[in-house]
Amino acid sequence: MQTQARVVVIGGGVVGCSVLFHLAKLGCADALLLERDELTSGSTWHAAGGMHTINGDPNVAKLQKYTIDLYREIEELSEHATGLHLTGGVMLAATEARFEWLKSVAAKGRYLGIEAKIITPERAHELMPLLDPACFVGALETVVDGHVDPSGVTHAYAKAARRLGARIERHTKVEGLEQQPDKSWRVITNKGDIRAEHVVNAGGLWAREVGRMAGKEHPVLAMEHMYLITEDMPEVAAINAATGREVYHAVDFDGELYLRQERGGMLMGTYEKACKPWSEDSTPWEFGHELLAPDIDRIAPSLEVGFRHFPAFQNAGIRKVVNGPFTFAPDGNPLVGPVRGLRGYWCACGVMAGFSQGGGVGLALASWILNGDPGFDVWAMDVARFGDWASKAYTNARVRENYSRRFSIRFPNEELPAGRPLKTTPLYDRLRALGAEFGAAAGLEVPLWYAPAGVKDEFSWHRSVDFPTVAAEVRAVRGGVGIIETSSFAKYAVAGAAAGAWLDGLLACRLPAPGRMTLAPMLKEDGRLIGDFTLANLGPDGYLIVGSGVAEDYHLRWFEEHLPGDGSVTLAAMTSRLPGVAIAGPAARAVLARVTAADVSAASLRFMDIRRLPIGLGAALVGRVSYTGDLGYELWCAPEYLRSVFEALMLAGEPFGIRPFGSRALNSLRLEKGYGSWAREYRPIYTPLEAGLERFVALDKAAAFIGRDAARADAQSGGRRRLRTFRVAATTSDVIGDEPIWHDGRVSGWVTSGGYAHAAGVSVAMGYVERELADSDGPWQVEILGERRGATLLRAPLFDPAGERLRG
Ligand SMILES: Cc1cc2nc3c(=O)[nH]c(=O)nc-3n(C[C@H](O)[C@H](O)[C@H](O)COP(=O)(O)OP(=O)(O)OC[C@H]3O[C@@H](n4cnc5c(N)ncnc54)[C@H](O)[C@@H]3O)c2cc1C
Repeated sequence: MQTQARVVVIGGGVVGCSVLFHLAKLGCADALLLERDELTSGSTWHAAGGMHTINGDPNVAKLQKYTIDLYREIEELSEHATGLHLTGGVMLAATEARFEWLKSVAAKGRYLGIEAKIITPERAHELMPLLDPACFVGALETVVDGHVDPSGVTHAYAKAARRLGARIERHTKVEGLEQQPDKSWRVITNKGDIRAEHVVNAGGLWAREVGRMAGKEHPVLAMEHMYLITEDMPEVAAINAATGREVYHAVDFDGELYLRQERGGMLMGTYEKACKPWSEDSTPWEFGHELLAPDIDRIAPSLEVGFRHFPAFQNAGIRKVVNGPFTFAPDGNPLVGPVRGLRGYWCACGVMAGFSQGGGVGLALASWILNGDPGFDVWAMDVARFGDWASKAYTNARVRENYSRRFSIRFPNEELPAGRPLKTTPLYDRLRALGAEFGAAAGLEVPLWYAPAGVKDEFSWHRSVDFPTVAAEVRAVRGGVGIIETSSFAKYAVAGAAAGAWLDGLLACRLPAPGRMTLAPMLKEDGRLIGDFTLANLGPDGYLIVGSGVAEDYHLRWFEEHLPGDGSVTLAAMTSRLPGVAIAGPAARAVLARVTAADVSAASLRFMDIRRLPIGLGAALVGRVSYTGDLGYELWCAPEYLRSVFEALMLAGEPFGIRPFGSRALNSLRLEKGYGSWAREYRPIYTPLEAGLERFVALDKAAAFIGRDAARADAQSGGRRRLRTFRVAATTSDVIGDEPIWHDGRVSGWVTSGGYAHAAGVSVAMGYVERELADSDGPWQVEILGERRGATLLRAPLFDPAGERLRG
């Protein structure tokens, strides 16, 4: 066996073989796949092979479309059949709420180039005659939907990869991984050692075991999953004869079922509520080509619905019940990418829909390894979205919840209960007592809004019970003063002799003077955004970076990859060590003045100033900046002072009617200023010019910061799109995100976020549109739940367009 390879891929399931194929396709033939048994010996061999393009995240949907389009290519390259059956499909709604969701899915398809059409139950019945139209209120017809032969696909990837020069060693088990001082990997196998620059964990059912070899506990868990296959059914034969084609695929969301033809019968699978994890702590190495004992009782409630919704099943004999395990990450999306702190160690695991997603995962990972960038927006499946806080118990709770809700609706205002509360701050109980309803962000409990006694969130696509209360919170800020906990923002301390020089090369902005802050975009080599921060210069104490809390590991990974190795710069994650609160509104200065002896007048503590001030009995770092777009201050302190800082502000704010507000009110407030946020307006597919952040990019500064050349080229070319804010003629529901934006009857962009701007009293949508149209008067429309609503381009912020409140 060879003893060296540039990339070693561990695992010969559909995902590992796709990664190998893509490495070879992108020019890296020095790639070796190791499989402990035969290819497909994990969850791959017993999969139902179903595939579709629809996904809640549009970027994952794009990768799913890529995967399905790829099958013909690998078939041709390998001359190995993938068993591709593109039957088309119907996605069925038995309730109005589900139908509204399907309409929003169809709308997204319009800008993703995914063909999907809203149809009546009767039309669905014509397409898929096994269903009873009386059980449904509507459906979505999808064109790119079908199934493949799992083994055929895996071998086609493998053969195609071999033809492009990559190699595969079967019956070669990886038993250990050791990182060498030069950061290369010693891959220890039962057949000897291999040196590799990169190792890819595509261990599927054994991803945890492979992770542990590198000292990492990955948040994945296998769940048992069952589907049944019927004997041949005369109804199926009749459909085949009448249409000359196979039966359409069907997903019955309310029955929690998926169905497709299997030879002369049907296959029906279910994500049952009474779900069961498999091998919770570790996966036995002996497990291979075997199945688990079926447990029909567990899936009986779903089958009952299925037999009602698809009556022909009532007379069908059951030929086989398959029960097999496959792995999930806590949110059901794959775990892909480089793992923080382990140079050259990559993840391609937790892929629960290998036949819809495997191709996209392989392409993204291979591009990332070879070109330093996935080439797509893979935020929704980046392994960095889970930090070490995603413990085994948390993963277990979340995966169960996710599995049992796989086909359930998740409303935009719905917070799920599993694995919570995990992380709380010293204010948690205090804010709860004030009525706070919490959501979780990267495991931390975050106040969303303050519910009046006896009122609880009601989940809906439409404006809900929180609407008047959030409006009151917003008005309290604009009319007086509000207070919000801001602990969930990520914070990083940067110090050391070379701290300034390092940041100057890492961030695109000009560095602020001591005691000052600035907005700080961070770019990749291709000039696109990889972060947006507030950067504070704390003088002798170094620098403080404040950014998105959910991106903490994502940003730490980038920072650490770029740190000089000589100790001249130190970096510390400060998120949990520096929690905070913020006050905002016209009375914010008066409140601050009552809790500190320091001079906080407009002349002394100017907009974007930051300094350490005594606050009540303690002290805090106080920055004059506010995401509300109003006069406001952010206060950061050690956790042990948070409570006293909060109490001091509450007491001082009493005469001004201070009111706690949550992140929903904050969202409403920032929309009035057109402020974007990470993972919505700012993502790694947009340039700062497109995102309206170009004034914070110092193209002419002396430091050759990362992405400078690409940003200069972008400034020349003007980029492809622009971020814009619209006022929308919405009635009972506002945008959620990912809706199409229409210009003069044509889809010309998509919504990134929005909601109701309570102080201005208008519904707002932010989104990207084609550059050429970005300043057009329209006509514009934004599609909400399948209905096009008139929209007006906002040419100035709704609130404080001249920045008088903010800076005054
Ligand atoms: C009943 C059932 C139905 C399903 N239906 C569908 C469906 O309709 N559509 C769909 O898209 N998905 C379906 N899936 C899920 C699908 O099977 C998975 O998404 C897919 O198999 C994941 O592939 P993988 O390559 O990540 O993992 P695996 O298939 O588990 O492959 C991992 C491979 O790594 C090897 N390996 C592990 N550790 C080592 C080591 N240390 N050294 C060497 N080799 C190692 C293993 O032997 C194995 O071959 C279904 C799953 C089940 C169980």
